[in-house]
Amino acid sequence: MIFNIEFLNCVLIIISAIIFVIFVYAAVVSIVEKEYLASGRFFLISFLLSLFFLLIAYFGFSQKEYFVSAFLLLLLLALIVIFIPFGNKKQEDNELPAGKIDERDIMFSRIILQENTENYKDYYKKRPEKKDGDDFIRSLPGLCSPKSALFNPFSYYAADSNFFAIEYLRNAVDGEISKTKTVADPAELTTFIKNWAKKLGALNTGICELKPYHLYSYRGRKDNYSEKVIHKHKLAIAFTLEMDKDYTSCSPAGPTVMESAQQYFASGSIAIRLAEFIRKLGYPAKAHIDGNYEVICPLVAQDAGLGEIGRLGLLMTPNLGPRVRVAVVTTDLPLICDKRKYNSSVVEFCKICKKCINICPTNAIQKDDRKMINGVKRWQINQEKCFEFWCKTGTDCGRCFSVCPYSHPDNFLHNFVRIGIRNSSIFRRIALFLDDFFYGRKPASAKVPKWINIKWKFVK
Ligand code: SF4
Ligand code: SF4
Repeated sequence: MIFNIEFLNCVLIIISAIIFVIFVYAAVVSIVEKEYLASGRFFLISFLLSLFFLLIAYFGFSQKEYFVSAFLLLLLLALIVIFIPFGNKKQEDNELPAGKIDERDIMFSRIILQENTENYKDYYKKRPEKKDGDDFIRSLPGLCSPKSALFNPFSYYAADSNFFAIEYLRNAVDGEISKTKTVADPAELTTFIKNWAKKLGALNTGICELKPYHLYSYRGRKDNYSEKVIHKHKLAIAFTLEMDKDYTSCSPAGPTVMESAQQYFASGSIAIRLAEFIRKLGYPAKAHIDGNYEVICPLVAQDAGLGEIGRLGLLMTPNLGPRVRVAVVTTDLPLICDKRKYNSSVVEFCKICKKCINICPTNAIQKDDRKMINGVKRWQINQEKCFEFWCKTGTDCGRCFSVCPYSHPDNFLHNFVRIGIRNSSIFRRIALFLDDFFYGRKPASAKVPKWINIKWKFVK
């Protein structure tokens, strides 16, 4: 034996203590995150594993040297698997859309078409196959409706009051440009814009060249219906805002739509202030906010280096996955562009994970591999099925992104796992197994906070 028995026992006790500390840390973090299943399992493992090593230290066998060596070798292998890039793929040629999307084809535009109007007749003349399904969806109660299945006046009216306020923001997305141009160094301007966006509440901000495929071909909402979208600006500033985990974990109940509406308002208000600020500097700028988009926000944000698009068609950010809202400002202000941070791990993880598919109440999420759509290989959710559920329940659901393993909070515990997911195809499978074990393959919805879930009745 190279090492004496006291030394090996000492190593085993240290390993036991380290395991105990790490798993208790994970358990405490889980309590803070209100992930009680995970917390219980972390506590149990901390106890069992540390006890196992202590028992070996005190009553162990004569071959302790080999046991310790094997354990340390395993640990080294695990670190190699997490930190050494392995199995990642290069960007394929078909990662960017070839054509444009017509906003009139999206559900948000179709739902507001009114029977017997010119827009209604024109649209269903071109897309007769969509008419019956859309008529049915329009007959349902709708988002935030008192007649919807999950209606609760407190959460729904709170959400709707944000949507009400957003209507007013829409009038301010564009405006007069100052005749006096303020000129500054583009690098310093870029730093200012990013820092100010952060000060206003944005999480991350990125800038990219505005490409034709970022823009809708035609507008599809209210006053601008059928207006051709003109490629006016050279650059786009995209930024994200976090959606609160406590609220989205209750999905599909009312707090989810409360949070969505709040973040639509918050992101819209930031975009409007950024655009107005730029116009004061003497450059054109337009805010793209809920209900008034000329751009497809996830595509812009992806090119601005804020994340990659996954199975849900949403932006998957490195530290919060799809649990974000995105807004965009397009402009001619000279700024320094960021680069897309292509990483195949998002798509590769989505290929094996499929947790969102299992949880979706309507089977709206594509189960098989990405397909060529509009010249790009991508997943596409069934927007009709998804929207039908929204219009029945009155909320924007969000079960899919609330259970996504990428949506865990931005902290050391989850970021450590994210490093492994980003780097290694082997670790991606381990991470998925661990996520299912600690959080459940089909996690239950969290309880609606008491202060929202109050008893009520209508009186006339
Ligand atoms: S739940 Fe899984 S498959 Fe769905 S978006 Fe998230 S990582 Fe991708
Ligand atoms: S929002 Fe709900 S219905 Fe729509 S895809 Fe996600 S889980 Fe399915």
